[in-house]
Amino acid sequence: MLNGTTAEIVERKALRINAAKTCQPIGAMYASLGIHSCMPHSHGSQGCCSYHRSHLTRHFKEPVIATTSSFTEGASVFGGLANLTQALKNIFTIYNPDVVAVHTTCLSEVIGDDIPTIVKRAIEEGVVPPGKVVIHANTPSFVGSHIVGFANMVSAIIRYLSEKSGEVKNQINIIPGFVEPADMREFRRLTTLMKVPAVILPDTSGVLDGGLDGSYEMFPRGGTTLPEIRSTGDSMATLGFGHFTGHPGALTLETKHNVPAQLFELPIGVSATDELIQSLRAFAPDGAVHPAIEEERARVIDAISDMQQYYHNKRVAVAGDPDHVISIVRFLLELGMKPVYVITGSLGNHFEKRLHELLDPVVPDAKIKQQADFFELHQWIKNAPVDLIVANTYGKYIARVEDIPLVRVGFPILDRVGHRFYPTVGYMGALRLIDQITNALFDKKDRDCAEEWFELVQ
Ligand code: SF4
Repeated sequence: MLNGTTAEIVERKALRINAAKTCQPIGAMYASLGIHSCMPHSHGSQGCCSYHRSHLTRHFKEPVIATTSSFTEGASVFGGLANLTQALKNIFTIYNPDVVAVHTTCLSEVIGDDIPTIVKRAIEEGVVPPGKVVIHANTPSFVGSHIVGFANMVSAIIRYLSEKSGEVKNQINIIPGFVEPADMREFRRLTTLMKVPAVILPDTSGVLDGGLDGSYEMFPRGGTTLPEIRSTGDSMATLGFGHFTGHPGALTLETKHNVPAQLFELPIGVSATDELIQSLRAFAPDGAVHPAIEEERARVIDAISDMQQYYHNKRVAVAGDPDHVISIVRFLLELGMKPVYVITGSLGNHFEKRLHELLDPVVPDAKIKQQADFFELHQWIKNAPVDLIVANTYGKYIARVEDIPLVRVGFPILDRVGHRFYPTVGYMGALRLIDQITNALFDKKDRDCAEEWFELVQ
């Protein structure tokens, strides 16, 4: 518990307490799982791989497959060439995936293993069977967070696998950013309703939100297929969502194959979803918005206007991954709330710049910080409390000790269900967030209010 957190803030430079991020390979592993028939491979020691798999498993409540180069003292001194070569032999013999996506760890990065050279040698020695592919991304955790790891792996997938035939296909690419399988499913639903053929890359729906039908498949049905990935160079455009996790892939495709990149923030809330739908209209055969989508938007507007008196000027602390935090802040402002503390554990000047643009006109005294931690956020809250916290699971420690309602958004969510099944993006995602935020505020009031304020109807 955090009962010992003091209100007095001491300037710290070299110490993080309860960091609001995790390590690069977790993001790379998650992105790799969004390719169909792909084995994520961790080039490092077993401990890293076990931690990354278990962290993803705890969040998604699904088994997460990945292999490891199993470094021991020998590999740490002489390099991981022999380990990776043997690992590739074993992987193709035992599991037979179409793709092996290698990501590095701190140890192999410090050693300086040259993955492309090792893989090239493995191909020349016949270790990689014909038709099979090995790709790689460098993901040192001492530089960047899981957010950077995700973006690095998506860019690597595109660099290695996307092709251009010269003939433009009637399709767009969507790089959805580090979002839930349910969000990727929602992107698919919206593009289908708008009659816009789309390659979603990566796509973890059907992989990490699979059902139980009595049969076991080593590689689940979901995931972006190799032919789909190869075809991305022929698409009309790429829509990248999220400055940190969606834009780098879209820009890589633009650089490699001249596919025009359209860059958006994560479509969380009304205006950000409007931007997505507006963009899809340009590719829709009749340029029209499907009536079902218009109705969903109307329901969101109705819900906000019904409940706005409960949101007005409520002070909110937001913590999490930068793309999510930026879009959540946009949505909170749409609700009439006041995001007063906004942090991310990741690094990136765009985070502070964009949030100042959003908050300076309406909440000029808001505290905004990149590379921050939950300890500092807690200290801010101790000095001036908030009405609501929006954060990942780790926010619960502050929420409990300060008796503040918590809405869990982002990664990781280790202690609740629902995030796998219900989207946060799109108008349906906005409705779900409205539901969570409003009910969290009501639960707190029902718990703490004086008897004369205890209402049956809100
Ligand atoms: S050693 Fe590096 S890659 Fe491995 S778990 Fe630790 S931070 Fe992550």
